[in-house]
Parts: sequence; structure tokens; C-alpha cells
Amino acid sequence: MAKRGISILKGIEAETVTELLNKAYCDEWLAYYQYFIESKVVKGLMKDAAIAELDQHAADELRHANMVAGRILQLGGTPVLHPKDWLTHSNCGYDAPENPDVLTVLEQAIKGEQCAISVYSNILDITREKDIITYDLVSQILADEVEHEEDLQALYDDIHEFIADIKKNIH
Ligand code: FE
Ligand code: FE
Ligand code: MG
Repeated sequence: MAKRGISILKGIEAETVTELLNKAYCDEWLAYYQYFIESKVVKGLMKDAAIAELDQHAADELRHANMVAGRILQLGGTPVLHPKDWLTHSNCGYDAPENPDVLTVLEQAIKGEQCAISVYSNILDITREKDIITYDLVSQILADEVEHEEDLQALYDDIHEFIADIKKNIH
């Protein structure tokens, strides 16, 4: 634990921040696995476009887990050590893709991103002007989550439109 680095926190305990970050850390691992497995099982229209997006997001969530773990360690905390704690500590939980239909998978993923946006937005509110390093790190992650939601929603809308066009041409 680096003492001077921690001493620059203003009006917030390192432990408060590491608790918030550890919950987000669990979210990231669950999001990573959800994207990983969705990409394997997804079926339906434009599934190749969906797979490309899901794989890219999986890589981003794993990178986020790395970033968050690094900050927890800097603050003298310990990232959650056991996968069994991921679900119990997470904010956003886990949605197994039991229905592999591409639209259902995208709906679940969009819901997950919306949760992540709320979680990180809340951490920004709590750390603003108190823990500038966490604030900066979380801002970067939040920008990715906003992009994730937009990418998934755009793809979802495209598939919907595609289906509507097909239906129109049948009649
Ligand atoms: Fe993430
Ligand atoms: Fe994300
Ligand atoms: Mg993307």
C-alpha cells in the first residue's frame, strides 16, 4: 500500500472506495463471462454482426476488471479472490443466455450496460473532487459502457428494421 498516494484522498476513506470498486470488479467479471458465452450460443438474424460486438465487449469488460483491480490494490484493498463471491457482491448480477435468440441476447446485454452506467455514474458522484485517480479511471470506463449501450441498441434497432423490411416484402 502506497501511503502518499492514499494521503491525497480528500474527505473519503480508501475503504469506502475499495468497497465500491470491488462490487464493480465483480460486475465486470460477470459481464465478461456473459458476453463470452453469449457470443458462443447466440443464434438468429445478423448473428455475425452480434458476435463481433459481443466479443469486442467481452474484451473491454476484462480490461475494465484489470483497471479496477489495479486501483483497489493502490488503495490498499484486495480484489475479490473467489469467483463464488462475484454474484453475491455484484450490483448488476448475471443474466444467463438461456434463450439464444439474438434479440433476446441483445436485450439482456443492453440491460447490463444500463446497470453498469448507473453503477459507474454513482461512483463518480461519490469520488468527485475526493479521489481524483478513481474519478478519472471510472470516467474512462463509463465512456466505454455508454458506447457499449449505444452499439448494442443500434444493432438491435437494425435487426428490428431488417425484420420489418422482410415482412413488408412478403405482402
Ligand atoms: Fe465494463
Ligand atoms: Fe460494458
Ligand atoms: Mg462495441
